[in-house]
Amino acid sequence: MDTDCLFCKIAAREIPAEIVHETDTVVAFRDINPQAPTHILLIPKEHIAGIDVIEDAHAGLLTDVFQAAAHLAKADGVHESGWRLVANVGPDAGQSVFHLHFHLLGGRSMAWPPG
Ligand code: 5GP
Ligand code: ZN
Repeated sequence: MDTDCLFCKIAAREIPAEIVHETDTVVAFRDINPQAPTHILLIPKEHIAGIDVIEDAHAGLLTDVFQAAAHLAKADGVHESGWRLVANVGPDAGQSVFHLHFHLLGGRSMAWPPG
């Protein structure tokens, strides 16, 4: 755990969040500023700063995140209408929290490419 990291603190229940799913390796909670009817953040419990520092050893963890995302899309009822999984990396993409996270978005039509 990185004691300065917001998402480590959410995973450790030190900061409240609406946690919707948890496994041994993954935590998912609703975004505080939702951009779609379904907007869930999925994080590995392990502190990894972002996609740009992924290592071979993280492979299993990433599978866990993607399986959790598919599970949550179903649980939130957007598996048929469609959903998007997004990871922002760096300033142009607007990354603001440096603990690897994926945004699960759904429940409305979404433009491509994103603005
Ligand atoms: P990023 O811009 O780094 O890809 O995404 C960070 C996301 O975290 C943003 O969508 C933001 O709304 C969300 N967020 C920031 N602080 C909190 C918080 O304290 N609780 C929750 N649930 N979401 C947060
Ligand atoms: Zn962290």
